[in-house]
Amino acid sequence: MNAPVPLSQITAAAQATHHAPRLREIPYNYTSFSDREIVIRLLGARAWGMLSRLRDERNTGRSARMLYEVLGDIWVVQRNPYLQDDLLDNPRRRGLLIDALHHRLGEVEKRRTPAADPERDAAVGELLQLASASVTTFAEQFETVAELRRRTAKVLGRVTAKDNIKFDGLSRVSHVTDATDWRVEYPFVVLMPDTEAEMAGLVKGCVELGLTIIPRGGGTGYTGGAIPLTWNSAVINTEKLEAMTEVEMRILPGMDREVATIWTEAGVVTQRVADAAERGGFVFAVDPTSAEASCIGGNVAMNAGGKKAVLWGTALDNLASWRMVTPEAKWLEVTRLNHNMGKIHDVDVASFELRYFDASGKKLERTEQLDIPGRTFRKEGLGKDVTDKFLAGLPGIQKEGCDGLITSARWVVHKMPAHMRTVCLEFFGNAKDAVPAIVDIKNFMFAETKRGGAVLAGLEHLDDRYLKAVGYATKSKRGGLPKMVLFGDIAGDDADVVARATSEVVRLVNGRAGEGFVAVIAD
Ligand SMILES: Cc1cc2nc3c(=O)[nH]c(=O)nc-3n(C[C@H](O)[C@H](O)[C@H](O)COP(=O)(O)OP(=O)(O)OC[C@H]3O[C@@H](n4cnc5c(N)ncnc54)[C@H](O)[C@@H]3O)c2cc1C
Repeated sequence: MNAPVPLSQITAAAQATHHAPRLREIPYNYTSFSDREIVIRLLGARAWGMLSRLRDERNTGRSARMLYEVLGDIWVVQRNPYLQDDLLDNPRRRGLLIDALHHRLGEVEKRRTPAADPERDAAVGELLQLASASVTTFAEQFETVAELRRRTAKVLGRVTAKDNIKFDGLSRVSHVTDATDWRVEYPFVVLMPDTEAEMAGLVKGCVELGLTIIPRGGGTGYTGGAIPLTWNSAVINTEKLEAMTEVEMRILPGMDREVATIWTEAGVVTQRVADAAERGGFVFAVDPTSAEASCIGGNVAMNAGGKKAVLWGTALDNLASWRMVTPEAKWLEVTRLNHNMGKIHDVDVASFELRYFDASGKKLERTEQLDIPGRTFRKEGLGKDVTDKFLAGLPGIQKEGCDGLITSARWVVHKMPAHMRTVCLEFFGNAKDAVPAIVDIKNFMFAETKRGGAVLAGLEHLDDRYLKAVGYATKSKRGGLPKMVLFGDIAGDDADVVARATSEVVRLVNGRAGEGFVAVIAD
């Protein structure tokens, strides 16, 4: 989401940079793109320079308006998949529109005055040429799209049901952005496979068609990874891959005892895995705040984690194995060996077996073992290093879908200790004085755990912007909005030990101008 910026600031900035009398002159532009961005997209950067100069001379009047109308007409169609479909279905109406655009450029041509100002006229001439080329490209694009739609339906129709190949406006509009709300291009097609097995064929088909592949789960990502950047993008929506198991006891490779696991396809909503774990008396450690909307594939691709990361790490630490389709449209199975049932950076070496299969997923082509020092997965003291996309070269995880499509995964789930207290810590003073409380709590609780006492099962930080956004109601008698709130879960098998550790945490934050409120039951 974008932080709100006062309109006056935007206006002032635009006036200062472009000396523009109005913020927008291109008509029908209800998008967040400025005139400058639209001109650069349709005519190129040089055209914007020329247009700005002509406009500064304040002698462009009706001609400039007509040129902007042409750009506005093209833009409104390019940004509206419903209009595109209408024009694709109606060649006659399309022809009339293209004729009208050329006609308007013809009217500008008629108004040229080479004798009065040759230099200015040359600029107008060049702009007209660029605009005319843009109209031609616009017209040709309909043919290109129609032909590519025909080929896509044919090639991908061999792999998935016809209804799963979606060119309609609604499907394209709903896959133009994610939680960033950033919009660049509409996807050319949205694919919604019914089964995991279809995924390799879809990748192969998209590569053959020259489409850019973008895997997508719940679209809650905050990095823009699921956003199409080119017009010929295929978004593969995994939401129908929702098969999963209940808790299954398994002996994982390299382990000598059964542990609790859950297998899920990529499109399973994160919270459904947490629900299944709870039904079996266990806890799913991957708990982003977006759990009701995000999907398992997105969790692997982003290495998601939440409050429970303090205790059991993020997606990476809780994966027993995962399956993915490579860019070569083949299958890869990654299996963690000797899982430590805890945080991955606590082991000296984390080992993974990589098994590469052919396109059918049946013929094993080769195997490989990755032995990666545990500490390389994280920066000291960090739950997840978002700056590290490579993640020691381990395929799939934290790669934002760039090295393949996650199709399914098996997760380990955990037993929560018998007793838990949730502590809510509100800080009203200066945020910079409050933040060190996080380190105090972490240091105290980690030492406590080392002593064999209670464990910190979760710690969540909410800043004042978030508190404001969710309409947080303070528990303090002071009233008003705190500067920062921490929620901590403190757990253990001995109720007294848990109670003592919780009191000590509250005492620690009292020293940092914080107030603590304890709930004996988590809810
Ligand atoms: C309100 C809110 C709260 C959030 N809280 C947290 C939090 O507490 N912790 C946290 O870690 N994140 C959080 N996030 C971020 C986001 O929810 C996570 O990154 C989540 O894992 C994204 O999952 P998704 O299914 O929505 O992925 P999408 O947004 O659909 O995709 C995200 C990226 O993963 C790729 N991808 C998706 N599916 C696959 C697949 N099957 N194979 C390969 N690549 C794939 C996409 O191409 C894209 O690059 C939050 C987001 C919101 C909006």
